[in-house]
Amino acid sequence: MIIGIDLGTTNSLVSVWGEKGPQLIPNKLGEMLTPSCVSIDEDGSVLIGNAARDRLQTHPERSTALFKRYMGSERIVRIGKRDFRPEELSSLILRALKEDAEAYLGHPVTEAIITVPAYFSEAQRKATKTAGRLAGLNVERLLNEPTAAALAYGIHQREAESKFLVFDLGGGTFDVSVLDLFEGVMEVRATTGDNFLGGEDFVGVINDLFFAANQTALRFKKEALFMQRLFAAAEQAKRQLSKEASATIQFSYRDKEFSLTLTEAEFEKACAPLLVRLRDPVERALRDANIHPSELDSIVLAGGATRMPIVRRMVSRMFGRFPSVDINPDEVIALGAAVQAGLKMKNSALSEVVMTDVAPYSLGIDVSKRLSDNSLSSDHFDPIIERNSVIPISRVKKYFPITDNQAYLELNIYQGESRMVKDNIKLGSLRVKLGSGPCEENPVDVRFTYDVNGLLQVEARTAEWANPYTLIIEGNPGILSEQEITERLAAIASLKIHPRDRIESRTILAKAERIYQQLLGDERVWLGQQIFMFEQALETQDDKVIAPAKTVIESVLTEIESQNRLQPTPDPSW
Ligand code: AMP
Repeated sequence: MIIGIDLGTTNSLVSVWGEKGPQLIPNKLGEMLTPSCVSIDEDGSVLIGNAARDRLQTHPERSTALFKRYMGSERIVRIGKRDFRPEELSSLILRALKEDAEAYLGHPVTEAIITVPAYFSEAQRKATKTAGRLAGLNVERLLNEPTAAALAYGIHQREAESKFLVFDLGGGTFDVSVLDLFEGVMEVRATTGDNFLGGEDFVGVINDLFFAANQTALRFKKEALFMQRLFAAAEQAKRQLSKEASATIQFSYRDKEFSLTLTEAEFEKACAPLLVRLRDPVERALRDANIHPSELDSIVLAGGATRMPIVRRMVSRMFGRFPSVDINPDEVIALGAAVQAGLKMKNSALSEVVMTDVAPYSLGIDVSKRLSDNSLSSDHFDPIIERNSVIPISRVKKYFPITDNQAYLELNIYQGESRMVKDNIKLGSLRVKLGSGPCEENPVDVRFTYDVNGLLQVEARTAEWANPYTLIIEGNPGILSEQEITERLAAIASLKIHPRDRIESRTILAKAERIYQQLLGDERVWLGQQIFMFEQALETQDDKVIAPAKTVIESVLTEIESQNRLQPTPDPSW
C-alpha cells in the first residue's frame, strides 16, 4: 500500500487511494490536519502536531515550526538540548503520519508519495527524499503540489477535455500550473512559481502595520516570546479578516497592553506589493503553456492562503471570473497525492489515466563566449533542458574546451532563467579530464537527465575516456551525504517519541497550559487547579480515572474559550 503525504509548511496530511477513491486519513485526534510542528517535552520525548503547536507559545525554546522553508539548506534548529536539520524535523512529521496511516489501515506502511512545491529546487527535493528515508519511508515519487491539486480535480472529469490553472498559495510558497486534461491524459503544460511568497508574508504585513502603530513595542522586537505573541495575534487577525471586515490584535506583554485594529481595506492596501507579485508567475505559466486565459475551463485554488478574500478577489479580477472551490483548499493536495498513489499501484479504477509533468526550471551550465575581438566573456548560462519541458527528459549538448591541450573542463551546473549564471542557482560542478590536442578535436558531450521526481543527473563523456563522468554535487551543504544520513538515522532512532496512545491527553494538557498563560486573576488560578487535577489523573495511568478527568478539563477549556472569546491557536507564522 502506498500512502500520499502533503508535507506542508504549516499543516501536513496523509491519504490513501481507497475503495471509494482518494481518502484522507485522520490522526490520533481524529483530525485530518496535523500541524507541522515539533516540540520536545520536559521528559525529553518528541511531540508532534497540535500539542507541539500549542507549546510554540508556552515553550518557544523547546518547539519549532515552518522548517519546510529551510529544507535543502544547512540551517540547524535547536530545540531543547538538541540540534536538528530541517530533514530530521520533517522526518518526525512524516513518521507521525506514517503511524497514523498504519493505525488506520491496520498494517505497516513503507512506501509514500510526498508532494513538494513545484518550484522546489534540486536540493529541496533531495532533502524531502532524505526526510522520507529518515522516517522509514521509501519515497516512491515526489509529486508537484499543483499537479496533485489538478489530479484531485481531474479525477472527477475524466471524460471531458478541460484546461485548468492551479493557483496554489501555501504558507511559504506560491505555485502555478497550467494543465490540460484530454482523453484521460493529464498533461502539465507549464509550472511556475515563487519559493518565497506565501501566507506568512501577509502576516508579515500585519506585523509591520503593528510596529508602525506601536512604536514603543519596537524595543521588544528581539525578544522571542514577544514575537511569538505578536505573530500568533497577527495570524489570528489575518484569519479574522477572511471572515469579517475588520480585526483587532490585542495582547499584553510585561504588563503593557498592545493593540491594533485593522480593516480589510487597510489590509488589502498594505498587501498590494504582495498581490502584484502573484501576477507574474500566472502570466509566465500561461505564456509558457501557450494558452489564453479565456481558454481555461477552470481556475483551481489550493493552499490555505487562498482563503483570503483579498487573494480571491485578485484572482477573479485577473481572470474575469470566479475560481473553483469545490474541494477544500487545505485537502486538495493530499487528495491528489492519493490519486497518484492509486496510479502507482495501478488501481483498476485509474487504469486509463496517464499523467505527464514538466521541469519547472531551465537547467544548464556556464560557458564562455568569444567576442568579436577574440577575447572571452565568461559566466554565461547555456540551458540544456529548458523550463517546462515534459519530463522525464534527457538532452545532450556538445561543448569544446577554450584552449588547445586544455587539461580539464570545469562544468558548473545551474538552474534558473537568467542570462548570466551569477543570477541563477548553482547545483554542483563536475571536473572532466580532457585528452591532449587542439580544442576542436576534444569535444565533451554533456547529458542532462531529469526524472519524474525532478531530480537531475549529469553525465559528461569525452572521446578519450570510455566511462562517462557523473555529477557529484560538491560542497552543497544543503544535501546530506550517505554517511551523514546513516548518522542521522542513528540519532533519530535514539529519540524518544511520545507514546501514540497518550497523545490525546498530552494535547489537551498543552492547550490548557497555553490558555492558562493567556488568562489573569481568579480564572487563571482556577484553571491552574484544574490542570493540576488533570495531571494527577494522568499520573495514575488508569484509563478509568483519566477518561472522566479528560471530559472535565475539556469542558472547562471550552467554557473559558467561549467566555473569553479566545480563539484556537492559529498556525504559526514566524
Ligand atoms: P498550507 O501551506 O496550504 O497549509 O497554507 C497555510 C497558509 O494558509 C498559512 O499561511 C495560513 O495562515 C493560511 N491560512 C489558512 N487558513 C486561512 C484563513 N482562513 N485565512 C487566511 N489565511 C489562512
